[in-house]
Amino acid sequence: MNVSRRLTLGLVAAAALCATTAQAQDKVLNLYSARHYQSDEGMYEAFTRTTGIKINRVDADDAGILARLRAEGAASPADVVMLVDAARLAVADSQGLFQPIKSAKLDAAIPANLRAAATPDGVTWTGFSTRARVIVYDPTRVKAADVATYEQLADPKLKGLVCTRSGSHPYNLSLFATVVERLGEQKGEAWLKGVVDNMARAPKGGDTDQIKAVASGECGVALTNSYYFARLLKSNKPEDRAVTEKVRVVFPNQSTSGTHVNIAGAAVAKHAKNRDNAIQFMEFLASPFAQDYFANGNNEFAAAKGVKVDNAALKAMGGDDFKPETVPLASVAKNLTKVQQMLDRVGFK
Ligand code: FE
Repeated sequence: MNVSRRLTLGLVAAAALCATTAQAQDKVLNLYSARHYQSDEGMYEAFTRTTGIKINRVDADDAGILARLRAEGAASPADVVMLVDAARLAVADSQGLFQPIKSAKLDAAIPANLRAAATPDGVTWTGFSTRARVIVYDPTRVKAADVATYEQLADPKLKGLVCTRSGSHPYNLSLFATVVERLGEQKGEAWLKGVVDNMARAPKGGDTDQIKAVASGECGVALTNSYYFARLLKSNKPEDRAVTEKVRVVFPNQSTSGTHVNIAGAAVAKHAKNRDNAIQFMEFLASPFAQDYFANGNNEFAAAKGVKVDNAALKAMGGDDFKPETVPLASVAKNLTKVQQMLDRVGFK
């Protein structure tokens, strides 16, 4: 073989390699995720099997993902960003880290109140699973009738009994933002003040700590996301299950506005290089198959219309058929700063 022929063959091979690389790039999705459950793996594999799109995942906590997206800017390889809680999605959105998309499939599958506000350009974030913010109480100290609503947490009847995690944690911020949306600013702030006045102790710990504090008698009433209670119910530690036997669960506001639900959700990243794949992945997440994986993996409820997950723990705690709040979670974005200022004013740590 002479030199020029060898060179030509070399160039052809290089060109072929380039073409393969370009094709391979087209079949890729870069996912930045703050959700990491073993059960999600099967869901991702199914997506790759049916679409041929390989998922590269970057796992970090919510704050880490936001910091990374900001640092990477326009060079970010992120296509889809997955975060937990509407408050965090709203913050990322306000920092310009997402882009709006239009998808008839998502419009049809996911209720509008579980998504960002629609604009002429489309919608940024979309919820793919829901969790209820429920009340747990000690039945030896508190009557069920006195904790039927969030509003009652501010009733002087519950003086010295109420426990929560920090008011500025996203789970509480989102709940408080929808309370303010429902009651208005004046009544909303008065409610927050009433809750502070009823506290058994200064806010501390996570949701599971609040459930345990009710079981131990330190608190009489507390707020928790539904999946933390379901986890204790399913635990193989007898002491965890013993905790659930000492407390009762209420899905609040059943005869009024419905129980506050929050979401785990996703959005297409602002600088997504594989935008079509990203939209395809979001649509896949809304399918009944993926909904079951996504929700059950963390003992959550499905977000898609007409999809019910089969979860014994959620059923056991009365979560099979509760009325959810329909206040748009987009109002969380709108009220977030206001709520933070109210918390400062009423001394809700
Ligand atoms: Fe959580």
